[in-house]
Amino acid sequence: MLSRVGIKVVDAHSHYFTADTMRSWLSRGRTLESFSNRTKSRTDMTSIELPDENWDTAQRWVDELDKYGVEAMGVMVGTEAYDEFLATMKRFPGRFIGYTNINPSDPDAAEKVRKAAKDGFKGIKLYPSSWRGVKVYDEAVYPVYEECLRHDLLVFLHFGITIGGQADLRNGNPIDIQVPSRDFPGLRFIIAHFGAGWFREVLLMQYQADNVYMDSSGSNSWMRYMPYDLDLKQIFRKAVQAGGSHKVLFGTDSTFFPRGWRLNVLEAQYSACRELVADGVLTDEDIHSIFYGNILELTGFKPSG
Ligand SMILES: [Zn+2]
Repeated sequence: MLSRVGIKVVDAHSHYFTADTMRSWLSRGRTLESFSNRTKSRTDMTSIELPDENWDTAQRWVDELDKYGVEAMGVMVGTEAYDEFLATMKRFPGRFIGYTNINPSDPDAAEKVRKAAKDGFKGIKLYPSSWRGVKVYDEAVYPVYEECLRHDLLVFLHFGITIGGQADLRNGNPIDIQVPSRDFPGLRFIIAHFGAGWFREVLLMQYQADNVYMDSSGSNSWMRYMPYDLDLKQIFRKAVQAGGSHKVLFGTDSTFFPRGWRLNVLEAQYSACRELVADGVLTDEDIHSIFYGNILELTGFKPSG
């Protein structure tokens, strides 16, 4: 399957947002008003369709993937959407790579990792800036890493700035994962959104560690908050020069409808990378790895799209 830009694509980072996700957000004190205010001022979305009972999340995403020629998408799955997503993986084999959200403060965290591995998930997602009182390098989190290592699961991490207005940015620095990456050389850690503002730290980590990767997901609007000019082309160039093309995974951070699968993210990132090919910085093989091969190699996932 070829995508709209003419290359094979697997989206390594997106989200599975269901009616249950919506309910769980509201029950944790988020209001629709504050959420839509933040999305309006900080994202390209002017409206959001809220999932209800009649909403077929799985079919909607498969339709999007087919429409844009995307073989599969990796999705972050919250606890509340877990069972629905499990059914989705069975209903559409080879289209969805699952990563389950884990909060290490949950007494069943390690058990949940074990279950996810058994259920065919390929990774977990940690969101340290949403935690209270726990750091990714705390001993309390180590049983989660041990379980991931045992079952060969990837560890995605969202550090950096975030749309979540309640975030604790003291837990936002990707350098926090350096000690676990040292203690678990067999685990693969993936920093979402190139570190979402802590790009320097993610680059420095490429010197320090061999098992820290980055994903390109989303609009990378964090670059607008840097004290110097930065664009996608520079980001990709720096990322590949520091870590190699095998360390960068394409993602869109697609989550909501009516926006759907974010073709504009693919187009912008692909055109930045094409320019780098013209400049002799990247090769066509590098592009294949970034937009398709790396995530499949890291997970062993076989797309059917
Ligand atoms: Zn995300």
